[in-house]
Amino acid sequence: MSAKSPDVDFDASLAPEESWDVDVVVVGAGFAGMYMLHRLRELGYSVQVFEGGTDVGGTWYWNRYPGARCDVESLEYCYSFDEELQQEWEWTERYSSQPEILAYANHVADRFDLRRDIRFGTRVDAAAFDEKKNLWVVRTSDGAQTVGRFFVMATGCLSSAATPEISGREKFTGAVVHTGRWPQEGVDLKGKRVAVIGTGSSGVQAIPVIAEQCDELIVFQRTPQYSIPARNAPLTDDRQLDVKSRYEEFREANFAMPQALGSEIPNYNDSVHDASDEQRRKRLEGAWDRGGTLFLASFGDLLLDESANVYAQDFVREKIAEIVQDPKTASKLTPEHIIGCKRLVIDTDYFETFNRSNVHLVDVGSDPIQRITESGLSTLSKEFEFDVLVFATGFDAMTGSILRVDITGRDGLAIQEKWSEGPRTYLGLSVPGFPNMFTVSGPGSPSVLTNMIISIEQHVEWISDCIAWLDERQYVTIEATSEAEENWVDHVNTKADRTLFPSCNSWYLGANVPGKTRVFMPLLGFPGYVRRCDQVAENNYEGFVIQ
Ligand code: NAP
Repeated sequence: MSAKSPDVDFDASLAPEESWDVDVVVVGAGFAGMYMLHRLRELGYSVQVFEGGTDVGGTWYWNRYPGARCDVESLEYCYSFDEELQQEWEWTERYSSQPEILAYANHVADRFDLRRDIRFGTRVDAAAFDEKKNLWVVRTSDGAQTVGRFFVMATGCLSSAATPEISGREKFTGAVVHTGRWPQEGVDLKGKRVAVIGTGSSGVQAIPVIAEQCDELIVFQRTPQYSIPARNAPLTDDRQLDVKSRYEEFREANFAMPQALGSEIPNYNDSVHDASDEQRRKRLEGAWDRGGTLFLASFGDLLLDESANVYAQDFVREKIAEIVQDPKTASKLTPEHIIGCKRLVIDTDYFETFNRSNVHLVDVGSDPIQRITESGLSTLSKEFEFDVLVFATGFDAMTGSILRVDITGRDGLAIQEKWSEGPRTYLGLSVPGFPNMFTVSGPGSPSVLTNMIISIEQHVEWISDCIAWLDERQYVTIEATSEAEENWVDHVNTKADRTLFPSCNSWYLGANVPGKTRVFMPLLGFPGYVRRCDQVAENNYEGFVIQ
C-alpha cells in the first residue's frame, strides 16, 4: 500500500476523541449534493456541504457559455423525488437552457432551505479517514477542518475542466476562457475575432451562438463530430399539462429504459441488417426529424455491430454534405469514426453555421496546433490572429474531480494511488480501503450514460438508506471488499466490451486526458444496475464488510 499523498499536511488523528462536527460531510452543491443534503436532513442527520462555487448548481453553475443547454428533455431532466416540486416548476422549452436549469437549482435550494448547510466558495482540499476513531477529517480551502462520520463525494462527472498544454499560453494578450469555467459576468464578443478549440458537445453548442455574436470566428477542429439536430422548441402547455397529469407513470416508464430516459421516443430492438433500404432510410429520417440523442435507438444493433453502425454513419455524412455548401468545408466536417462511441452530440444549426461568411474551419487533425502566440496561435503551416480564445476542450471526466482532492483511506492509502491504473469501485458507490466514503454517480455506475438527475436520485437514496440502516443496527463502518470490487470492475468491462463504446478515443475511456489510464468508466444499463443495488441492500449489503 502506498504512503499518504505528499500533499496531505494534516492527519486524521486530529479528530477529537469520539466526537464529530456533523454526521455527513458532502462535497459539491450540484444536483447530487443538494439532494444528498435534503434527504439526509429528512432522515434527521446533520450535514455540512462544501462548494467551490458561490452558489448552487454544480455543472450548471460553471458552464455558462453561450448556447449551453441540456441534451435531456426538460420534463425528464428535473428531480422526481417531490411531487409538488415537479408540479410547480414550469419549463419553457423542450431542452432547457443553462440559465433556466440554474434558476431551477436556485428554486430547489430556496424551497428546501438548503443554503444554510452549504459553505460556498470553499473547496475541499483533503480528507483522511481516522481508523482509530472511524471518522473522516476534512480540510477545506478556508483552512478549517470538519469531522464527519461519513464522507460523500458529490462532485459530478463533468466538473474538472481540462485545458490542453499548448506552449505559449501565457503569452496570449487577449482573453482566454474555458466553456466549463465561463465567467459569471459573461464575455463581450461583439466586434471580436474569436477562436474556439474543440468540437465536442460544448463547442458544437457554443459555435453557432458565438458566430452570431462576434465579428469573425475560427473553429479549430481536431476530430469532426457527428451531430444530430436537437429540434429544440417551446414546450407547449398541452405537453406539459399532459405529462404533469401522469408524472408518476411517466417517470416509471423512463426508469425502465436503459438510459433512464426517452420512454416516449421509439426504441427499436431489430437489426438494421434486416431492414430494406427504404425501411432503413425511413426510420433514420424519422429520428433525424424528431431530433435528440436517441437517434441511435433507431435499430437495436447500431451500437453493437460495426457493420450496422456504418448505416447510421453514412446517413449523417450525407446530411452534412447536404447542409454544408462548400464541399471542402463539408469534407473537413465529415467524421470517419464509429458513430456514438464518442458521446453523440445534438445541436441547433451547427453544420449550418459553417455556411456563414464570418466562420472559418481549421482542421488541426491534419495541421496540428504548435503554439499559442501573443496575438493568436500557429499550426504547423499557418498563423492565426484573434482577440478571444475559447477552450471547448472538455473535462477530466468522472475521476478528475475526485482525484484532485487528497483523499486518504486506511493505512495511508491515497485515492490517487488506489486508482493509478484507472478507477475501481464497487457499484460506482464505494471503494475498498475507504470506509464510510461514498461517491455519487461514481465511475462504474450508469451516470453519464443516463439521465443524470435520475441516476443521482437513485444513488442519494441508496446511500442515505445505507447510512440509516447502519445506524439502526449500531454499526460504525461499511467498506466494500476487494473481491466485490474485482467482480464489479469485470462486470462493467464485460458490458462495455459487448458494444462499440470502447472503440474510439472518448472521454468515457479517459482518452482525452494525456496519461490517463484507458478504462471504460460508466456502466451500461440503468434498470439492471438499480436491481443490483437493491439486491445488495436487501442482502444486508453483500459485498461490504460491516462492523
Ligand atoms: P469533449 O466532448 O471532450 O470535447 C472536447 C473537444 O476538444 C474535442 O473536440 C477534442 O478533440 C477537442 N480537443 C481537446 N484537446 C484538444 C487539443 N489539444 N487540440 C485540439 N482539440 C482538442 O468535451 P465537451 O464538448 O465539453 O463535452 C463533454 C461532455 O459534457 C459531453 O460529451 C456531454 O456529456 C457533456 N455536455 C453535455 C451538454 C449537453 O447536455 N448538451 C453540453 C456540453 C457538454 P478530439 O475529439 O480530437 O479529442
